[in-house]
Amino acid sequence: MLEDTFGHRISYLRISITDRCNERCAYCMPEEGQKWLPKEEVLSFEEIERICRIAAKLGVRKLRITGGEPLTRSGATQLIQKLVDIPGIDELGVSTNGTLLTRLDSSSKDTRKTYIQSLAAAGVGSVNISLDSLDPAVYASATGRDYHARAIAGIRAAREHGLAVKLNAVLMKNRSEGELIPLLNFAREENALLRFIELMPITDSNVLDDSRFLASGLAKSILELHTGQLEPRPDFKTNGPATYYQVPRTNQLIGFISALSDFHFCNTCNKLRLTCEGKLRPCLGSHLEIDLREPLRQGADDKEIADLFHSTVARKPETHGFRDTYQPGRNMVAIGG
Ligand code: SAM
Ligand code: SF4
Repeated sequence: MLEDTFGHRISYLRISITDRCNERCAYCMPEEGQKWLPKEEVLSFEEIERICRIAAKLGVRKLRITGGEPLTRSGATQLIQKLVDIPGIDELGVSTNGTLLTRLDSSSKDTRKTYIQSLAAAGVGSVNISLDSLDPAVYASATGRDYHARAIAGIRAAREHGLAVKLNAVLMKNRSEGELIPLLNFAREENALLRFIELMPITDSNVLDDSRFLASGLAKSILELHTGQLEPRPDFKTNGPATYYQVPRTNQLIGFISALSDFHFCNTCNKLRLTCEGKLRPCLGSHLEIDLREPLRQGADDKEIADLFHSTVARKPETHGFRDTYQPGRNMVAIGG
């Protein structure tokens, strides 16, 4: 079992399987000069699977596959199938920008399958899909790509295949204000759970200065001008730090992930992150990372890797450092959101 010094039981591992992406969201990577890791520095699928088997024995019950854009890595859905089947893993989710979900999964044995078909066949029950705007022009300026229609098609395809969908929208001042109500309405129509995420300082991009920060509380007030007062739903929890509210009359739920403005944000943290080159990170907002790749490649046995999990968890900070000392070292795209 993994438990940190503050009593948090660690049961959730988010795994980045690539630092590459087909979009260019400015809050996630610099507009220019992002360097991709050479292939040999990225964990192989066998290495990822081995780490996940060890993690499952240590009490990890939920995995999330992320990136970069995880579906850009060839064979991603085959890896996912293997991870779903690991004894002890109860749940596996995928975070994606959605733009490839309706494309053919060329690494599937059945090359007529789309990515969403492969994910559904693998037993993936839910996907988190990024969607900052319903306006194609705003979407293109946010993501650097004109893929709005593809993202929407991906969301609809996920729902049609029976997957639960969470929509994640990053809040940015002077961009998000007009998107809040259209996103709320869209999520209701598509039966998806919408969450707004406060901007975190995880890239050296110039979009991250304070003038672009839009606090959840302000976004909530803007929403309430249209919806009436949102009712807190502390009883509703997903496996993450979002705080949920209910919209009057429609009963739609809406979440806020308030890493900066919520001072209790870290109280219920249950996760670790694994970067695509094999660094185990106890916290998104701390530079601490422990290398698993070299020990793995030097022939470490399962007990030695398990010990590295324990020492990472023992050094998990009580809270993230975004409000004070944190300076972006790695971009979000290279950590795994
Ligand atoms: N490419 C996939 C996607 O876009 O969902 C998965 C990786 S992405 C890094 C995971 C999540 O991190 C997305 O919801 C994205 O909006 C969020 N994200 C990226 N940079 C962020 C930042 N600086 N602050 C807050 N959220 C961020
Ligand atoms: Fe790519 Fe996701 Fe980062 Fe956007 S948020 S650049 S889609 S990894």
